[in-house]
Amino acid sequence: MKTAVVKKPNTALVIEERPIPEPKAGEVLIKVHACGVCHSDLEVRLGHFPIATYPIVPGHEVAGVVDKVGPGVTWPKVGDRVGMPWLFSACGHCDLCVQGKDIMCPEMKVTGVNRDGGYQEYMIAPALFVAPIPDSLDDAEAGPLMCAGLTVYNGMRQAGYKTGDKVAVIGLGGLGHLAVLYARAMGARVAVISNTPDKEGEARELGAEYFINTGSKTAADALREWDGGADIILATAPSTEAATAALPGLASDGTLVLLGVGPGSVTAAPLDLIFGRRRLMGSPSGSRQDARATLKFSAANKIVPRITKIPLEEANNALDQMEQGKLRGRAVIVF
Ligand SMILES: [Zn+2]
Ligand SMILES: [Zn+2]
Repeated sequence: MKTAVVKKPNTALVIEERPIPEPKAGEVLIKVHACGVCHSDLEVRLGHFPIATYPIVPGHEVAGVVDKVGPGVTWPKVGDRVGMPWLFSACGHCDLCVQGKDIMCPEMKVTGVNRDGGYQEYMIAPALFVAPIPDSLDDAEAGPLMCAGLTVYNGMRQAGYKTGDKVAVIGLGGLGHLAVLYARAMGARVAVISNTPDKEGEARELGAEYFINTGSKTAADALREWDGGADIILATAPSTEAATAALPGLASDGTLVLLGVGPGSVTAAPLDLIFGRRRLMGSPSGSRQDARATLKFSAANKIVPRITKIPLEEANNALDQMEQGKLRGRAVIVF
């Protein structure tokens, strides 16, 4: 089978032939049909994740079909359509796992970061950590829902979203464009904050009522003019500066949730947080339960990511474009 590997930090992907692996007890072999290209894959290639191990096959936006099951596996069945998200496995017995918060398990393993992911024709996954893909979702469109979709949908829920809230989305990339679609489907009023003025058309097409071009106005001022500020700010772009600049634009009791990983620090003036009782939080991907909820909500509300299908050989190129900020929507490797 064809595999794309990052052999060591800060090196390009290398395509190589490997034998198709055999699933062991408790594992399944997934025939990968599609795998989205996430900003975290770029971080893996750059060597920015302390938890990453090398050599590694990136990719945690996997959609495919169960091709073989290991000894003792009773679910899923061969032929079932399944996805694999960021969470590859968790211990299952710690307090967090028992509470359904396996995404914060101290022993969690991460798909495409310290366990081989979906940039290959077949991958091994623990049977109990795959997510069933609803029939109405296409493989290439389901892939990006496993990370980009899950992260923004769940991030909004973790931030305490209530119907009708004003949600501001920083950035209109892979996560950001999906954030607009989810927020609209959940009944939110939506603003998009971007430093790229020509994204206004796309933002409005996706359902945003307000576009803030940070080149002509600060995000905080523009948000305060939006009926007093945003109830939730989803920081999807990997820019700590953009999050810091937007934070004072929260309404009272508002929450800024960090979803995109970037260098530097987000800073907040104590008075901005204290008087308006504002919150700054982060949210990592989601649990197995969150992944299923995302897929079900997406199917029911026809959430379709904007994708560009590419062959595995183009993955390096897609990561380069992402690094230069040139990639629009989501690139998805299809086999
Ligand atoms: Zn991701
Ligand atoms: Zn655990």
